[in-house]
Amino acid sequence: MKISRRGFLAFSSTLLGSFLLGNQAEAIEGKYATIIDLTKCDGCKGEIMPRCVKACREYNRDRFPEPKKPIPPYWPRKSYEDWSDKRDKIDTLTPYNWIFVQKINIDGQEVNIPRRCMHCDNPPCVRECPFGALTKGPEGNSVINDKLCFGGAKCRDVCPWHIPQRQAGVGIYLDILPKYAGGGVMYKCDLCKDRIKKGEEPACVIACRERLGDKAVFMFGRRKEVFDMAYSRAKAEGLYIYGNTQNGGTSTSYLSKIPFETIEKVINGKKDRFQMPVKIENKIESTFNPIGKIVLVSGFLSMIGASIGAVLSKKSSKKEREDEK
Ligand code: SF4
Ligand code: SF4
Ligand code: SF4
Repeated sequence: MKISRRGFLAFSSTLLGSFLLGNQAEAIEGKYATIIDLTKCDGCKGEIMPRCVKACREYNRDRFPEPKKPIPPYWPRKSYEDWSDKRDKIDTLTPYNWIFVQKINIDGQEVNIPRRCMHCDNPPCVRECPFGALTKGPEGNSVINDKLCFGGAKCRDVCPWHIPQRQAGVGIYLDILPKYAGGGVMYKCDLCKDRIKKGEEPACVIACRERLGDKAVFMFGRRKEVFDMAYSRAKAEGLYIYGNTQNGGTSTSYLSKIPFETIEKVINGKKDRFQMPVKIENKIESTFNPIGKIVLVSGFLSMIGASIGAVLSKKSSKKEREDEK
């Protein structure tokens, strides 16, 4: 146990502050939005790694987890999620790969679908995290605070697309309750939070445009402008849209020539970890339960307090014994 009393107080107040701020039930549209145009994505054919994936990995490399090994198993499970030996994996989401290009085949036609967090308008991951480790920024992005995350994976459980991914052997649980709490830190796309705060585009957006110019797959910008453009294109070219209504609306919309019901069916047939269901209701407003969360957080803080108390009292008894010698 390395946490100090001061550290505990700072952690508790941050946790409670984030908890109170991060759990409003109403949908909030952010400043920015992204269009992902599937009619233009060829999965970066002929390249070792899709440029969007490469750019994301390079940009976020310093934030990837470095687990302490051996990783202890955590209660109640005997296993843990460790992706640190599979950092090169680029065909799925992992704590080291926050965007991937899902490939499916529909009637002989290859469809490439860049997949990452949708940045929902009313994100269940933000609302349901018991520790307030996630927030939705004014830019519209949902962001995990890796200093507060215990890796309990509630965000993944409530995400309709199961986006956040867990790495064990890192994070605050190791200092506080290694055997009983969470089990790591959750990782996912945060829409390049530091870049968009400065008014810059996300790294993946730039990388795709460097390759495809004005035929780039991503269109990123002010939400209203971007969505207006997407809807008028969809209307003019008979394209289908995904992400505008799913889960109560998101700040990411896909455009496709193929109906998303067909795409859903094909992905479903592949039993892929990352499905694309068309009918997704946002259940937050009906299930939001602040009292339950307060009870949970209070209980958890009491457990932490008790653990710290036990350690402090152990230290003081040790000192007393030394003084007596
Ligand atoms: S989105 Fe752009 S960079 Fe990514 S795979 Fe498709 S074409 Fe390549
Ligand atoms: S897609 Fe999932 S992880 Fe991303 S904001 Fe929505 S609920 Fe959260
Ligand atoms: S927006 Fe940033 S963090 Fe998200 S996938 Fe693109 S490069 Fe990665």
